[in-house]
Amino acid sequence: MKALRWYGRKDLRYEEVSEPSPGPGEVKIKVNLAGICGTDLKEYSSGPCIINGDDAPVTIGHEFAGVVVETGKGATAFSPGDRVSGVGYWVCGECYYCKRHMYNVCSNLLFTGLHKNGCMAEYLVSPEYALYKLPDSVSDEAGSIVEPIAVAVHAVKIGKVALGDKVAIVGDGIIGLCTLLAVKAAGASEIHLVAKHKGRGERTLSMGVSTVTYLNDGDTIQKVKELSGGLGVDVAFECVGHPDTPQMTLDLIRNGGTAVIEGVFDKRGEVDFLSVMYNQKTMIGSPIYVDEASTAISLLADKTIDADTLITSVVPLADAVEEGFEKLLTNKEDNIKVLLKVAPDR
Ligand SMILES: [Zn+2]
Ligand SMILES: [Zn+2]
Repeated sequence: MKALRWYGRKDLRYEEVSEPSPGPGEVKIKVNLAGICGTDLKEYSSGPCIINGDDAPVTIGHEFAGVVVETGKGATAFSPGDRVSGVGYWVCGECYYCKRHMYNVCSNLLFTGLHKNGCMAEYLVSPEYALYKLPDSVSDEAGSIVEPIAVAVHAVKIGKVALGDKVAIVGDGIIGLCTLLAVKAAGASEIHLVAKHKGRGERTLSMGVSTVTYLNDGDTIQKVKELSGGLGVDVAFECVGHPDTPQMTLDLIRNGGTAVIEGVFDKRGEVDFLSVMYNQKTMIGSPIYVDEASTAISLLADKTIDADTLITSVVPLADAVEEGFEKLLTNKEDNIKVLLKVAPDR
């Protein structure tokens, strides 16, 4: 089968590999569509970040929709022909955290497309527990963005966003935009986006954002505070992963508010802990998800979240580097979520 494999920084190769077969508790999926994630992009442009360089080559990708073709021993929840999406974790089921259902912080966590061969290939093998059936009301296009929406749904839970809350989101990447859609679904009364790219910021006007403030366009914190009534917002989400953005996120919340960190950082940053203490602020991390993919599918099924607002193009897997990865790196204004078409049209 054909697969897109990560060999090193700026070295993704579309090549022939042998088909995987499902082990115990695993399911083999014929992939239809695969999404390019910010993590994949980072591995391509400046990796290895999470990928262990010694494991290369590895088939990249963890966002997908496809059809079950084979089930391994003991994998009984799915049958050939089931349309599925899934999430990326491989968890041990044995550690302190797994025993408490905190699978997102499993001590032995591995990830599809980073440590295990991923979905930018004709076939993918996934543990059964990471898969979710797609109802007819969720297209494969929508199904292929279940994973980033699950990240956002988990963050909204961690941030305890309540009906009527004022919220700020720092970052206009796919996680920022998914978080925007998730906080809207959670009933936020105001959503203030801090964006970098005009093209993306303008696109969010159709996603229910209240205001968009651009970085490097004056005093961002002061502006958002004024736009949200003066005190700051109840909950703010950091969705960038730059050393400066956690402080900005903390400065955007009111006293007693919560800052949720979703970004993936490769450098340390500084935080003014005195302002955290004096103002009784909470800062909390939100890594991936536990079982929020089922909520993500429900939100897509009833169109509370419209996948079309995020998907900007669908390109063949064979053209992934030029038409996908490079375009996402060089033109962030017009490209948000690029899907790769893996299977020929049915
Ligand atoms: Zn992802
Ligand atoms: Zn575990």
